[in-house]
Amino acid sequence: MIITRRPGATAGAFDRQRLVPGWDQPRVERARVLVAGVGALGNSVAAELVAHGVRHLALIDNDVIETSNLSRTVLFRAGDEGRRKCDVAAERLTLRAPARPLHLVPLHTDAVSELGWGVYRRVDVVLGCLDSSAARAGVGAPAWALDVPAVFGGIYAWDGNVLVQGEACVACDFGAAEWADMNRHYSCHRVRRDSTGAPLPNLGLTTSIVGALMARETLRLLHGDRSRRGSRTFLAGNGPSLHRLAVRRSPRCPMHMPVRGVVEMPELTSALTAGAALELLARRWEGEVALDLGRDFLLAARCLGCGTERPLMRARHRTWERDLLCERCAKSPGPWPTDPEIEAMQSISLQTPPAILDRSLEALGIPPLHLLETRTARGPHWIELSGDAERILPGWPAIAA
Ligand SMILES: [Zn+2]
Ligand SMILES: [Zn+2]
Repeated sequence: MIITRRPGATAGAFDRQRLVPGWDQPRVERARVLVAGVGALGNSVAAELVAHGVRHLALIDNDVIETSNLSRTVLFRAGDEGRRKCDVAAERLTLRAPARPLHLVPLHTDAVSELGWGVYRRVDVVLGCLDSSAARAGVGAPAWALDVPAVFGGIYAWDGNVLVQGEACVACDFGAAEWADMNRHYSCHRVRRDSTGAPLPNLGLTTSIVGALMARETLRLLHGDRSRRGSRTFLAGNGPSLHRLAVRRSPRCPMHMPVRGVVEMPELTSALTAGAALELLARRWEGEVALDLGRDFLLAARCLGCGTERPLMRARHRTWERDLLCERCAKSPGPWPTDPEIEAMQSISLQTPPAILDRSLEALGIPPLHLLETRTARGPHWIELSGDAERILPGWPAIAA
């Protein structure tokens, strides 16, 4: 967490925008924004929002700065190569803030699989500044599930677009190319792949325009304007011109799972063993409790080539395609059988073997501050690992009423 007051900051820094009819500066300064992806687009949006007085930003990115980023990133400069994007962005935003102390939380983590959904419950707007379709869908899903407005930017050469989720999610608008991109990131076993495709053509000026449009949508949403939810605005670089289309919910989109009535449990953290967490839940609901992991925990793989079985004991999202390759078969010349039979676990209860229950929830693949579905005799409940909140979002403003 970085909280700073820039020396010489003046209270009058926002005097001109306060003159804009309907502008609510205190609302802007109270807003809590999640920036998923702090590459070129994330730089641009975050810089715009801070310039307008947004103070609370969580900056999520698990990447480090490369030379090829520098021509398009307003917050990074030569010499930053190798440093974490989220940390450098936080430092530079602090220098750019026109006034007020900033409250920035850099999180060097994977926005899709390692960011607890409780983070989404604590923000007013989610910004998707991500280039892969898999990441866009993975960030859009929790925002949709928790009914948090989400704004996504996309860039291709001179053209760009901004999508605001509504009834439709970002993946509802995916075409064949986007679903193919999803598959590039994951094998048919849904474990990770090393190859992620070639980089897309990109221009810093398109990034600036799309970043400014995303910041504009964010500020309108913060002012209560819901008219753009469920729309996509296209920037045609040739004109340039803008046109907006409604995005309809696709009946085939698999990303829609509403999460309501979350029970906050400050006594639960991802560091607890699964067994201890289940005992706490069993006491609370006075009876048998099963906990859905919401993701697969891979127990073992059996090679279909030679029949060798070996333990995996890791979450699917932390498993790479190469981890599934049979060591014995890999020694022989190919082709190697890369599709082993996998034994996986999706939910746990107090009857689950101690080899699993003695592990922490974190070791089972559950990120801090995550939401989990429990099944009890009195029906299903969504619970939150609320005990992680202060560690993940230190000093963050409480959930708005
Ligand atoms: Zn959808
Ligand atoms: Zn084998």
